[in-house]
Amino acid sequence: MISPARPVITIVGGGFAGTALALQLRRQPALAAAAIHLIEPRQAPGPGLAYTARRPEYLLNVRPGALSLYPEVPGHFAHWLARQPESSAGAPEFASRAAYGRYLHEELAEVLAPPAGPAGVQWHRSTAVAAPLVANGQRAVRLADGTTIVSDYVVLALGNFPPPPPAGPDLRYLHHPGFHADPWTAGNLRRIGPAEQVLLIGSGLTAVDVLLALRQDGHQAPITVVARHGRWPAAHAPVSAPYPNFYAALASETTVNGAVAAFKRELRTAAAQGIGWQPVLDALRPDLGRIWAKWPLAEQHRFLQHLAGLWAVARHRSPPQNAAAVATFTAAGLVKMHVGTVREIIPEGDLLRVRVGPHGEAGSWLTAHHVVNCAGPLLDYARIADPLVVSLREAGDLTPDPLRLGLLTDAYGALLADDGLASPGLFTLGSSRRPAYFESTAVPELRLQAAALAAYLAS
Ligand SMILES: Cc1cc2nc3c(=O)[nH]c(=O)nc-3n(C[C@H](O)[C@H](O)[C@H](O)COP(=O)(O)OP(=O)(O)OC[C@H]3O[C@@H](n4cnc5c(N)ncnc54)[C@H](O)[C@@H]3O)c2cc1C
Repeated sequence: MISPARPVITIVGGGFAGTALALQLRRQPALAAAAIHLIEPRQAPGPGLAYTARRPEYLLNVRPGALSLYPEVPGHFAHWLARQPESSAGAPEFASRAAYGRYLHEELAEVLAPPAGPAGVQWHRSTAVAAPLVANGQRAVRLADGTTIVSDYVVLALGNFPPPPPAGPDLRYLHHPGFHADPWTAGNLRRIGPAEQVLLIGSGLTAVDVLLALRQDGHQAPITVVARHGRWPAAHAPVSAPYPNFYAALASETTVNGAVAAFKRELRTAAAQGIGWQPVLDALRPDLGRIWAKWPLAEQHRFLQHLAGLWAVARHRSPPQNAAAVATFTAAGLVKMHVGTVREIIPEGDLLRVRVGPHGEAGSWLTAHHVVNCAGPLLDYARIADPLVVSLREAGDLTPDPLRLGLLTDAYGALLADDGLASPGLFTLGSSRRPAYFESTAVPELRLQAAALAAYLAS
């Protein structure tokens, strides 16, 4: 039985999503007596994968005004940033991710309490490995350090999992010292010598960061980039007046083609007024989830097959200085884009040979000392090998969606079990909720999920 007087809530994962949820839960008067546990194995909770970065060249890819932890106080991060030493000569237009990590940790530190603190949040520096159902509908969250937390509510805020192997069936390359399976592993890129040949798989924001970090470390040899569509992320346009929302023009569209046609009509209207595509696309941002949810599964699949690459380029933009740096490297012949799909990677002594080409055709072979996998994260919960995910999957407590974008949930993020029923005590937020919204990655979406889930648990 849940103790209404003192429910126990355990948040697994102390990145942005877990932090935002912990802070929102502590703001709920109805949960004043709740015991809140936060499980995060990193040195400090708050920054998570994205903002633990120490390198100053790793920038936030949106302006500070979009990054408040609290949806109801949009300027919160911008005000914090303005008070920091790096803003003494004016706040940066695109701050470092490390600064944002500091912001998250400082906000969380306000509620991180000693173990007995009733109004605080208790951080456990460990990893959750299982969360089976026990008596009274509660779950026993088991940590790698041997602790068990019997919880009324468990929220998975696990973030993104490293990208899957980019090629098969011969997987020997996974053990080759030149293969970098996860670009965010600390110290990984520093193993690359200045004259060694490097090949990046993918051309999204991660590849841009890796490119800039390598140049910063003094890497001099040309870098090959292999990407399916061969495009870099678009650059942010200068700040402009917001474009009026035009969701009504798409609200009844149940096909990708219909939605794209309506969007193109709006682009033409905007262009006639001298307005670029960026503010038009941004005007739809709050409604993307509704547009996605209107499409039947076959249309969502069609979007993933044909448009998701182009969408990522337009939606996930680079700070202009990063885009300019990539353009300069390209013009100087220091970066070469190779359009295609990596099909095979074969170790050959110190080198890795990479076959790039369409299905069923020989394609071409490229060679590099280092191959860095900058492809997107693994979203398929049927394949994720994390022990907690595996144990919940084997117990039938979670259901991957048919498109393999994340987990099936109800409107509040309660996990749907294999019988299709929403769990009364097991929730998730963050990228795991992509099946419901498609865009469930960035701060503006996640902070809303955190506020809504906290209000729901409080009720
Ligand atoms: C490199 C990078 C840059 C980004 N830049 C931006 C940006 O500029 N703006 C923006 O809006 N978005 C950005 N994003 C998107 C980003 O994903 C979100 O902003 C946000 O950080 C996601 O937070 P999260 O808590 O869901 O995931 P994460 O930050 O990944 O946090 C998940 C945490 O869960 C922990 N964890 C996982 N499994 C367990 C377990 N079993 N037990 C205990 N702990 C566990 C992990 O250690 C991790 O710290 C970026 C993402 C990346 C990867």
